[in-house]
Amino acid sequence: MKLTGIGASEGVAVGPAFVPATDRPEPERDRITEDEVGAELQRFREAVETIAGNLSETADRLRTSGSGEEAGIFEFHVEMAKDPELASAVEERIGHLESPEAAVLAVGEEFAAEYAAMDDEYMAARADDVRDVTGQISAQLIGRSISAFEALKTPSVVLSYSLAPSDTARIQKGMALGFVTAEGSRTSHVSIMARSMGIPAVVGVGPKLDRVLGAQTVAVDGGEGYAIADPDADTVAEFERMSGALAEELAALDEYRHVEASTSEGRRIEVAANLGSVSEAHDALKWGAEGVGLFRTEFLFMERDDLPSEEEQYEAYSAVARAFGEKPVIIRTLDVGGDKDLPGVDQGSEENPFLGWRGIRMSLDTPELFEPQLRAILRAAANGNLKVMFPMVADIGELEAAKAILQKCRRELESEGMDVGEVETGVMIETPAAAVCAGELAEQSAFFSIGTNDLVQYTLAADRSNERLRRLQSADHPAVLALIRRTCEAASAAGIQVGVCGEAAGEPEMISKLVELGVTELSMAAPQIPRAKKVVSEL
Ligand code: PEP
Ligand code: MG
Repeated sequence: MKLTGIGASEGVAVGPAFVPATDRPEPERDRITEDEVGAELQRFREAVETIAGNLSETADRLRTSGSGEEAGIFEFHVEMAKDPELASAVEERIGHLESPEAAVLAVGEEFAAEYAAMDDEYMAARADDVRDVTGQISAQLIGRSISAFEALKTPSVVLSYSLAPSDTARIQKGMALGFVTAEGSRTSHVSIMARSMGIPAVVGVGPKLDRVLGAQTVAVDGGEGYAIADPDADTVAEFERMSGALAEELAALDEYRHVEASTSEGRRIEVAANLGSVSEAHDALKWGAEGVGLFRTEFLFMERDDLPSEEEQYEAYSAVARAFGEKPVIIRTLDVGGDKDLPGVDQGSEENPFLGWRGIRMSLDTPELFEPQLRAILRAAANGNLKVMFPMVADIGELEAAKAILQKCRRELESEGMDVGEVETGVMIETPAAAVCAGELAEQSAFFSIGTNDLVQYTLAADRSNERLRRLQSADHPAVLALIRRTCEAASAAGIQVGVCGEAAGEPEMISKLVELGVTELSMAAPQIPRAKKVVSEL
């Protein structure tokens, strides 16, 4: 059976299907006897200790590898496992002769129901966390190994409705051969992460995913965007041939990793990486990144229960700055809103979130979020070559306001005696308004970076995550190209750099058009870098 979806991360793979267990552990006994109470209380406490210990090991592993934001989720799960209220509710039930494995599941459900009933969308989503943690404690008591992603011990193709960064973080390196998800678009989390990890992915296959959950083997083509459940021998052979061809192509690209790409006319095009977390920095350098064209800071803020402090942000930005040394690193200020929610901040509900309170609009309205971020960037700039970039700018007033706050933060830090570095300020050109007003914006910017993902959706009035609008989701449209041309002309007149950090920058067929229009830098998922350098070198 063939499932078609969106090709979200190139590459092919065939392997055993892995469906993360969402089923609940099934306790074999509900009741205990009076004389078992003492021993069962003890067993419950030990199970909590073991699970909290496992979770905190995962958190430590993630934190040392630089994935602070994912580590935060597991630290939160440790707290949940050790929650005294949870313990006393379970112990009371054990006292009433319920088995601990059944009691912890029942209490987990009670707590989850309380969370789910909360108005706050973020708190409601915590119902799944509490089920996850209590399920693990129960499984430990039953003697069953923990489920879901940590249980993945053989390299497999993961089939799942959706995948969160926390899920991918739980997968051991090398264990995911491919991803197939019901939800998602090319610009959703799983796609961005899969591309950074170089794992083939097909997303947005829709409810048809149900029909293949029982498959033994799955073949994925993340370039073309389809998956085949239980492929026959011919198909497997064809995939092996494609995989061999791709591996050869990749090996042939190796020599391009560290070249400084120029066109035959001698136009130098810088090729940089888009990063979503600090942990991607070293791999990006290995792929040949000449800098970071886009560091999506919202990933530091998402998937955790609280907001990262100025200090935590300072550490994260400094780590990337240090890893890249003199190479430029563009830190984009928070871009939540649209399809990206920010836990811990009430964004309200909007009828048209993509046309709503997102990017710089939100930052300007929430100095309590914006200022610590700008302070962290300014301080981290002392450790490397950082630049700051504002997302979703629609007019010069927003840029002026943002720059004024940046100046204020700089003055405050200086008066506090803190070390601060120089940072150039740039603007993302991702609203048609910014492209039309590029001339004015260029006068007050040190660089531009064109966000084609949003520029396309706003120019063509086509939701970037709606899989039915694929025809209207390419930058190769005369209206979008005209706006890119206009932006490049304005940048060139002002003598500033103009990059592209939307997905189009990594698409070989778009690269020649972008370079011809005047783009001077391309920023993409790191594994796409060698091929982009080759394409540029052959222009
Ligand atoms: C873009 O819009 O092209 C972009 C790079 O930003 P994001 O995908 O994070 O919205
Ligand atoms: Mg954008």
